[in-house]
Amino acid sequence: MIPSVMPTYARFDVVFERGEGPWLYATDGRRFLDFAAGIAVCALGHCHPHLVEALQAQVGKLWHTSNLYRIEGQEKLSKRLTEATFADTVFFGNSGAEANECAIKIARRYQFDKGRPERYRIVVMTTSFHGRTLATVAAGDQAKGKYGFGPETAGFDRVPFEDIEAVKAAIGPETAGILVEPVQGEGGMRAADFAYLRQLRELADANDILLMFDEVQCGVGRTGKLFAYEWSGVTPDVMAIAKGIGGGFPMGACLATERAAAPMVAGSHGSTFGGNPLAMAAGNAVMDVVSEPGFLDHVNAVADILRAALAERVKRFPEMFEEVRGLGLMAGLKCRVTNTDLVNRLFEHGLLCVSAGDNTLRFVPPLIIEQEHVEAAMAILDRVCETWRHNA
Ligand SMILES: *Cc1c(COP(=O)(O)O)cnc(C)c1O
Repeated sequence: MIPSVMPTYARFDVVFERGEGPWLYATDGRRFLDFAAGIAVCALGHCHPHLVEALQAQVGKLWHTSNLYRIEGQEKLSKRLTEATFADTVFFGNSGAEANECAIKIARRYQFDKGRPERYRIVVMTTSFHGRTLATVAAGDQAKGKYGFGPETAGFDRVPFEDIEAVKAAIGPETAGILVEPVQGEGGMRAADFAYLRQLRELADANDILLMFDEVQCGVGRTGKLFAYEWSGVTPDVMAIAKGIGGGFPMGACLATERAAAPMVAGSHGSTFGGNPLAMAAGNAVMDVVSEPGFLDHVNAVADILRAALAERVKRFPEMFEEVRGLGLMAGLKCRVTNTDLVNRLFEHGLLCVSAGDNTLRFVPPLIIEQEHVEAAMAILDRVCETWRHNA
């Protein structure tokens, strides 16, 4: 009999009832160190006092009005996001997929508005992940998300990640834009070379197509900058964000320049729930904290500690690990043993992390972790690795 919860996930047999900072407490009394953070969502850990206070204050005032009316929290958060980034304008949705859908639509509409409706295709990358709607699953390179769902949504041309010549060759008279994750998450925690991103920018400019970054996972302080593109000095025309921006409240946003989003007029796009007052209370509260002086310095400092610790494990267990990947607190450990087996062992010992593509372990802890949490995580990793070696 099919479970009442549609079984689209293989779930761990655990129910969490409470969270505090980087810790999760299960109903059976077990405590877990959470280096999964809801898959890079709980940027400030669980029940951060400032988020709790902001949400509690909003819950008693107003939840939802629809986008037929002005929403003060949207006006505030969009101003903050545009002041802090390349963007001039922001569309609020509820998820990463929705943010990418908006980006794809902006690219098509931009070309249409220029009198080039035949330009609708987007150049996308191998091992990419952009969500699970019909368009974003077609944009992504995850076979299991496409299997059995009928004809793929048209309009995506896939080229090898970090291969600029392939992008050049793929751009044609029907190309509207390029969509890329500056740091691939799901696909294996791969940070794109900055020179590659710079060359993408040049190609986009030369062909009057839009450069779109998917920062759903790597954005909002995760890599040690507010947004990962800042490391490269390359600015996109459009950027999708989600995950960390709500700190656990479902929200996403699509940021764009005025030039790119000019044709996005009233009626061209929308979302019933997008940007409602509750979500905006969460988003603004997250921005309060990540914008505090010193916050990103902390992320960089603790990321250095984590990455050095992981590099040390690559040295200590060369038969198990190949290399450290990613950027900042978006850390990956490329495995020589099966990553999912390791995730299971770590779970049994009280450490949560996530598997990623290319046989990688993904560590995306809350940005508020301290050195002691890294040390606690490494103690668990060492115990699991030593047992593994012993049994090998
Ligand atoms: C998680 C993720 C998405 C999809 O986000 P959803 O909220 O699950 O729709 C898209 N792009 C990237 C890079 C992601 O990591």
